[in-house]
Amino acid sequence: MSPFNRIVKRIDSFRDEMIDFQIKLCAIPAIAPQSGGEGEARKAEFLLAYLKSNGWGDIQLVKAPDLETPAGHRPNIIALYRGRSSARTVWIMTHMDVVPPGELALWRGDPFKAYVEGGKIIGRGVEDNQQDMVASLFAVKAFQAEGLLPNYDVGVALVADEETGSAKGIDYVIQNSTAFRKDDIIIVPDAGNEEGTLIEVAEKSILWLKFKTDGKQAHGSTPEKGINSFKAASYLITKLDALYGLYGKPDRLFDPPISTFEPTKKEANVPNINTIPGEDVFYMDSRILPGYDVEAVIKKIRATADRVEKKFKVRISIEEKQKAPAAPPTAAKAPVVLALKRAVKDVYGHDARAKGIGGGTVAAVFRRAGFKAACWSRVDETAHQPNEYCKIDNMLGDAKVFAHVCLQD
Ligand SMILES: [Zn+2]
Repeated sequence: MSPFNRIVKRIDSFRDEMIDFQIKLCAIPAIAPQSGGEGEARKAEFLLAYLKSNGWGDIQLVKAPDLETPAGHRPNIIALYRGRSSARTVWIMTHMDVVPPGELALWRGDPFKAYVEGGKIIGRGVEDNQQDMVASLFAVKAFQAEGLLPNYDVGVALVADEETGSAKGIDYVIQNSTAFRKDDIIIVPDAGNEEGTLIEVAEKSILWLKFKTDGKQAHGSTPEKGINSFKAASYLITKLDALYGLYGKPDRLFDPPISTFEPTKKEANVPNINTIPGEDVFYMDSRILPGYDVEAVIKKIRATADRVEKKFKVRISIEEKQKAPAAPPTAAKAPVVLALKRAVKDVYGHDARAKGIGGGTVAAVFRRAGFKAACWSRVDETAHQPNEYCKIDNMLGDAKVFAHVCLQD
């Protein structure tokens, strides 16, 4: 039997143990203090004990200070399992924290007492992000049980604070440790699709703007005595649609392949029909391809607003509600992408593709720091929902994908 087939059989034999591990992790809610929790300290303790008694070495606990938690810090764990060569490390980064359960009435059971039903484990955190945390740990356990060595060192980063911005999680780890090297393979299994065919390598810049238009209130029957801010703002919205043409170069790495500029939220203005509104507020959500400079887009928007100000004699102020320039993309031919493609093909029989997405993922933290990370996992995308679940077959399959990557040259 080939080494990979031995690993596959071994991972299959871990099925019950992996389910049990999931249930144990789920019973330790690791919720951020901003969301009313205690942080990840207890979950980290459980995981550290596991790593120490299961052949992992070079175990580091990177503590990000956080006085909001009983522990006084947010724990981040790094551990290595030595392979044939230490020339590079295959990293799998997952996060310990989970989001609160939300409306309890929507859950069929206790969110923190995970249970199995129809091939799924149900509970808060079982998909996001424990499915692949357990998969990564048991992929290595299979090597150990078979007496096989991975080709390169395997590293796990089990981090805190992913759900509330990563400042005390992977961002802190990157700034305070030398664990990661530029040629390492870095897999972040925290996004994916049902087929396991999405390898996320890039994201668009996010720009959220608030537009406040000041005109002059008047009676609805005498518009000439006022300045209709709603009409000016609406005119501006139609003019802003030109951004689609101005920044219209497509990039087929992304879905949709273009930058998007959409008016979204609209605040209520006057409560009655017979008043000319003197003030108008609307918002725009833009997702801009990484090839375009966000500041240039903002300048163009300001110039458009200037022209509307003149035409309607209004004042338009523009406030940046969120501005997150895209991290440099990981190349579609980067080693991490090619390795995942081969593994997904062998394990799941599917052709995976490198893609960009409209929102940010935690892999961007790595990319900003110059590491070529990719997001991949096979998930039904039930994260943050009531009755979140993990398909047990996906947990085992993802473990095989990670093991496959560790066996590649
Ligand atoms: Zn997550």
